[in-house]
Amino acid sequence: MSGCQLAVRGATLPDGRGKGRRVDLLVARGKVLELAPAAGKTPAGEAEEIDASGLVLLPSLTDAHTHLREPGYEYKEDIASGLSAAAHGGFGNVMCMANTNPVNDSASVTELMLDRAKDSWPRGPRLFPIGALTRGLAGRELAPMAELAEAGCVAFSNDGVPVSSSEVMRRAMEYASDLGRRVIDHCEDPSMNPASGVNDGVLSGRLGLDGQPDVAETIQAARDVLLAEYLDLPVHLAHVSCRRTVELIAWAKSRGVRVTAETCPHYLLLTEERAAGFDSLAKVNPPLRTRDDVLALRQAVREGVVDILVTDHAPHADCEKEVEFDAAPCGVCGLDTALALTWTLVREGELTAGDLVRLWAEAPCGLFDLPLNRFRPGDPADFVLFDPGRSWLVCPDSLHSKAANTPFLGRTLEGRVRAHFLGGRKIV
Ligand SMILES: [Zn+2]
Repeated sequence: MSGCQLAVRGATLPDGRGKGRRVDLLVARGKVLELAPAAGKTPAGEAEEIDASGLVLLPSLTDAHTHLREPGYEYKEDIASGLSAAAHGGFGNVMCMANTNPVNDSASVTELMLDRAKDSWPRGPRLFPIGALTRGLAGRELAPMAELAEAGCVAFSNDGVPVSSSEVMRRAMEYASDLGRRVIDHCEDPSMNPASGVNDGVLSGRLGLDGQPDVAETIQAARDVLLAEYLDLPVHLAHVSCRRTVELIAWAKSRGVRVTAETCPHYLLLTEERAAGFDSLAKVNPPLRTRDDVLALRQAVREGVVDILVTDHAPHADCEKEVEFDAAPCGVCGLDTALALTWTLVREGELTAGDLVRLWAEAPCGLFDLPLNRFRPGDPADFVLFDPGRSWLVCPDSLHSKAANTPFLGRTLEGRVRAHFLGGRKIV
């Protein structure tokens, strides 16, 4: 076929609940030329051919919530290593949070982030910075949001530091909306054992730790939902961790409130019990909750009450986590493992491969207006060839992040990215 540069033969494209269908993907000038039933007959002319039999064809994924630590904490991660983890994990669009040092509350920091991304990974993954809501994340004075949007910030968030003032939150939502951007809120009542990293319940009692109650998340989520209804403006709730917040979101959506939400693979797969034995690798904010919360979140992502999945990739150095539970920082790294972890839910029948495409690609790209491949002619040829049968050990050597602070360390996962293309060019 004239102009075809690449022909991917015999890959399996997920379709709803079924086993998927075998397809040939033809690419020209960085875009999808045609997606045809696998026949091996479509002439590809001079094109490079890839035999993708046995591999799953997915659009390149989007992570709307990562911490890449640059500038300021490059010993944990930098933009080059974070994007390496993204590229190998199947993520072509990465949105990075503003809690760097200095905070991303000025155009110069946004521009530095974008320059670092372009220098280290010129063909992508593409970096989309999230600007701070308030100066220095201090929660008092709004950041220069117009300047940040102009410099390339695609959303605004104080992630890591809850916004306790409802008035500041209200003004932030209004300004963000004027700029065509969405506010992402880290919901946590700062007066209720903030960032304790363990759920308030049976386990925290047993360990003698001050747990954070799930209602600390729901209280602030309720404030946001009520503001969103009052202002008739959108708000996006970060890393939802419990049934109580899921039920609040379902109620709000039933009233027509413009609320959207995200959760992470660790909240779908692990309970608070993972922190038994004071394992700081399971210390995360919000904390891992109960089995009942896990079940509620699985249902919520299936039904779209929770709209998207994110990693909340939060890398830390080994020496920071190898201390007493109380002293360790919160956070787990996730870019390397997210797709394989989500695929375990597909294998168990909890999610379909179609759900996975919706949660990791279609819905986040829709929410934040990012490039998306739906495999229609003219779409960007951003795709992943995923080998669902390939097992691998989660260990520092197999992770591309600088960090290895994951509660899945030492686990064997099934499913790995075999190749990742952006704009028709292989990035890994
Ligand atoms: Zn957060």
